[in-house]
Amino acid sequence: MLDLLIIGAGPAGLSAAEAAQQHGLDYLVIERGTIANTIRQYPVGRSMFSTPNEVEMHEGTLKPVREKPTREEMLSHYIHFVLNLDLRINTGEEVVAVDGNIDEGFVIKTDRSEYQAKRVLFAIGAMEIPRRLNVPGEDLPKVYHLFVDPYAYVRKDALVVGGGNSAAEAALFLSEEGARTTMAIWREDWENRDPKAGAMKHWVRTPLEAEVEAGRLKVILYKHVDEISEHEVKLTTETGEVRTLPNDVVFVLVGSDADLTLLKKLGVKIETGKLAEIPVYDPETFETNVRGIYVAGHFTHARHIKAAIDVPRRIVPLIAKQLK
Ligand SMILES: Cc1cc2nc3c(=O)[nH]c(=O)nc-3n(C[C@H](O)[C@H](O)[C@H](O)COP(=O)(O)OP(=O)(O)OC[C@H]3O[C@@H](n4cnc5c(N)ncnc54)[C@H](O)[C@@H]3O)c2cc1C
Repeated sequence: MLDLLIIGAGPAGLSAAEAAQQHGLDYLVIERGTIANTIRQYPVGRSMFSTPNEVEMHEGTLKPVREKPTREEMLSHYIHFVLNLDLRINTGEEVVAVDGNIDEGFVIKTDRSEYQAKRVLFAIGAMEIPRRLNVPGEDLPKVYHLFVDPYAYVRKDALVVGGGNSAAEAALFLSEEGARTTMAIWREDWENRDPKAGAMKHWVRTPLEAEVEAGRLKVILYKHVDEISEHEVKLTTETGEVRTLPNDVVFVLVGSDADLTLLKKLGVKIETGKLAEIPVYDPETFETNVRGIYVAGHFTHARHIKAAIDVPRRIVPLIAKQLK
């Protein structure tokens, strides 16, 4: 019986693992992908919005070449954190069920094995379920719900659908690297200047507008996409005009959601937040209404990497105290 099983090896899970190690807990991290899998799925070469002090595991240990670290510097930082501390992480293993209770312990089933633990921390992030347009043709192989690199699309007709930073960055990178790019965005997103309401960061918007100005990137204020076919996309603009665009590739970047299925099955209460569903938890301990089940990271109200790292450092010592 483990003391603590941690699901997810993003910044939250890694921080929890270190805290568990420091407090002498018998712990294990189970990660379906790789260490810092979400960050590995950022666009190649992307600079973070955050400064090093907001994303590093220990003060002064992340030393980017420029002011803000890139995806690659972040990945290397988190990987070496794991290697240096020799943290116990099983990668490439997915948790598929969690049952039990605090009195008898929890049983955690994965696609490889089964574990028992006194406490379980969900650090599962909020990237599991990409949002879809739900239009005909969305399952074609040329349609992606994730953007990683622009280099395969030089001189191709690319459409990016979405209004947040991820969509804006993808459109910018594609356009800069020679794809004939169109961005379909709702007017309210295009005109949104409030960073708290998810507006594009100005250091994305400024070069994006320069691409538009130079005539390389087209922006269509659209109402909805009607249909995606092998060589075209049909969409309706905000004025009701139906347009057919030549198309080789589509990136649907309209957000993603956490997969709360396992938590719901355990009986964890869920509330509807401004942006997504969020588990209900004690703001001090991050324990849910199901005793012994904890949450941390991107799918809680503490969404950013800094909070994802800080919260486990507060709550794992509380778990250790209970268990001793
Ligand atoms: C393109 C992009 C840019 C971003 N830029 C910034 C930024 O500049 N600054 C910032 O602070 N934040 C940024 N974010 C948000 C940031 O990525 C998250 O805040 C951060 O990753 C949260 O860490 P986490 O540990 O909570 O979740 P994640 O890093 O998402 O880690 C969760 C892990 O859980 C694993 N997992 C999920 N379910 C299971 C399961 N059933 N079994 C096993 N493993 C599972 C996943 O594979 C994943 O590795 C950005 C996000 C994106 C998408």
